[in-house]
Amino acid sequence: MVKITSFTTRDVRFPTSLDKTGSDAMNAAGDYSAAYCIIYTDSEYAGHGMTFTIGRGNEIVASAIELLAPLVVGKDLDELTADWGKTWRYLVSDSQLRWIGPEKGVIHLALGAVVNALWDLWAKTLQKPVWRIVADMTPEEFVRCIDFRYITDAITPEEAIALLKEVEGGKQERIKEAEQSQAVPAYTTSAGWLGYSEDKLKALLKDSVAQGYKHFKLKVGANVEEDRRRLAIAREAIGYDKGNILMVDANQVWSVPEAIEWMQQLAEFKPWFIEEPTSPDDILGHAAIKKALENTPHGPIGVATGEMCQNRVVFKQLLQAGALTVLQADACRVGGVNEVLAILLLARKFGVPIVPHSGGVGLPEYTQHLSTIDYVVVSGKKSVLEYVDHLHEHFVHPSSVKDGYYVTPLEPGYSVEMKPESMDQFAFPGEEGKSWWRTEEAKTILEGPRIV
Ligand SMILES: [Mg+2]
Repeated sequence: MVKITSFTTRDVRFPTSLDKTGSDAMNAAGDYSAAYCIIYTDSEYAGHGMTFTIGRGNEIVASAIELLAPLVVGKDLDELTADWGKTWRYLVSDSQLRWIGPEKGVIHLALGAVVNALWDLWAKTLQKPVWRIVADMTPEEFVRCIDFRYITDAITPEEAIALLKEVEGGKQERIKEAEQSQAVPAYTTSAGWLGYSEDKLKALLKDSVAQGYKHFKLKVGANVEEDRRRLAIAREAIGYDKGNILMVDANQVWSVPEAIEWMQQLAEFKPWFIEEPTSPDDILGHAAIKKALENTPHGPIGVATGEMCQNRVVFKQLLQAGALTVLQADACRVGGVNEVLAILLLARKFGVPIVPHSGGVGLPEYTQHLSTIDYVVVSGKKSVLEYVDHLHEHFVHPSSVKDGYYVTPLEPGYSVEMKPESMDQFAFPGEEGKSWWRTEEAKTILEGPRIV
């Protein structure tokens, strides 16, 4: 029996704004950050969870973690994991904290960190990676992890069990494939950030092609002429007929009619989908964009969104409205593993592939588990998963890609345990003599003009 005794939070920020890593049409310069939660126990095990943000405001999420984590202190892990659906409902039902959500925004980002820390802890005590815990569940056990409130009009627990049973036949084979790192094909955004020069774009694309990548994503939406130029460079590098797939991402900059017009001007470059064309809350707007782009003179352009979708309810409606070609749930923005499992089931029900959001520190570490779960247990079909090759060196078990596939994590846990020295080095505002944020170099960010 493992009892939770205490917790700590950390505010960790990496100064990625210095080189424009992560820059797009909406986010000029982010400092990739983690609002971090460590859950301690009366055993040798500690659970590590984090939520990804891009800098300012990370301390608000860390404060919200401090309000939520006491809900699990003093509890037995066995008790919390015996009926996960009930535990999850308990964690979203503090009525005073619920008022500042409910189940969305900062409080939900914080819940993601706490719930994911619990899964990490559970996985360590079971000596399994998180994906394997779920792969070893029966359909009934899987479904018991989920709080079905608000989604039973789209999928009931009974229906979910039936869907999972349909693909159970090939599960052992797929587990073997996962163990051989053949479950999750990777794609890269490393070349595509908007702040990069055309030369850097060219060089990075060439590099990615040489590494065996087949999917490439570029940021768009700042200037249509520039977008056309960058997409032409990209197509020159990856070709039209070599099986390489191009995707574009606008990070919510457009209104609905603008999204349609802009994408019609990019249609000749044949993108598979436009990601986040408009507000993540605009369900009918996404549906309208998808419908309008179904028949361009150059073929269809799909619609993808999810990295800023608040919860399973929004995903349910996007699916019900036929608004999605691809669903991109985030591992932290929704309330952790359990809510993602609900979203995977919804996607399966509506026949939409999932490509979880991975553009951020720690996200590939998380999403490699989620995509593996989707392939092995839920959809039985391979999809692709974004791999951004930044900042992995700060993790004890960093995610990696080999021969175009994610290397399946086999170590116990949820893979986001950060090295203690990295946490100290990038703690914000940090300690004098320890933290980068106390150095001369940091003054460029701290005292320079604020890049909004
Ligand atoms: Mg995106």
